[in-house]
Amino acid sequence: MKENMLYRDFASFMSEYFPGKKVQKISLDLIHNCPTRDGSLGRGGCTYCNNKSFSPAYALSHKSVTEQLQEGISFFSHKYPSMEYLAYFQAYTSTYGEVEKLKEMYLEALSYPGVVGLVIGTRPDCMPDSLLSFLSQLSKEYFVLIEYGVESTIDRTLELVQRGHTFECSKETILRTHDSGLLCGAHLILGLPGESREDMLSHAQRLNDLPISTLKLHQLQIIKGTLMARDFVLHPDRYHLFTEDEYVDLCVDFLRQLRPDIVVERFVSSSPKDMILAPKWGKKNYQFVELIKKRLLTSK
Ligand code: SF4
Repeated sequence: MKENMLYRDFASFMSEYFPGKKVQKISLDLIHNCPTRDGSLGRGGCTYCNNKSFSPAYALSHKSVTEQLQEGISFFSHKYPSMEYLAYFQAYTSTYGEVEKLKEMYLEALSYPGVVGLVIGTRPDCMPDSLLSFLSQLSKEYFVLIEYGVESTIDRTLELVQRGHTFECSKETILRTHDSGLLCGAHLILGLPGESREDMLSHAQRLNDLPISTLKLHQLQIIKGTLMARDFVLHPDRYHLFTEDEYVDLCVDFLRQLRPDIVVERFVSSSPKDMILAPKWGKKNYQFVELIKKRLLTSK
């Protein structure tokens, strides 16, 4: 991390891998299942999840890898003709399914002009060794980052939100991924029910012990149509939803506990407004970034 940086951000991480280039992630929506949805581990999905809340409009599920890349890239390429792209397998669990089909999908993405790497979002209990060794081979030629939904480091929380895996599983998979030579990221939700502020800050310390390169923080959002939304309406007292100001403070304290080499890619999720039951903040990630930087500079 450069001396004048308040924390390591994703743009500088990208510029280390792609010096002098503009690189943009293109979100894809191809896998439509998770073990917590298809009955392998459950049926309702994680209680907070409505997948529609994080798929962009062009990533329409019936379209092929190539079609989705074409649409996503055309969005940016007229503005920045020399831009390069990372295919971001974002929706649901992007390593869940027949391994041979998954491999074909990743290869199709890498064969698209201008695509220089993959970012694959998945669950820690869905990374078979055979796929890991395939991705490890790809990473010798391309940028490959695997992002795991850790969400919490506390097992009682993971059970409550029906994640279907433990923190031990996250640890084991992250270590296995790192040992295969792949870059690893984690996602974490701050504000899950039953967790105190101290619990949330303790996630930073536990993640510090793991070989992750990147981290995405998300505030808990109650999304309409989820199991959590139903519970929230019946038992609002079970939830503490942060104000914008409280959340900025929490992120600042979190960053101060986090290993400084971990890249923080984002602090908040921005689901479509009409899908959010609470909290209705109305600020985007970049606005939180500014507030967090300001507070890092002015508070001790
Ligand atoms: S959070 Fe991820 S794993 Fe859980 S139901 Fe949603 S897409 Fe599936």
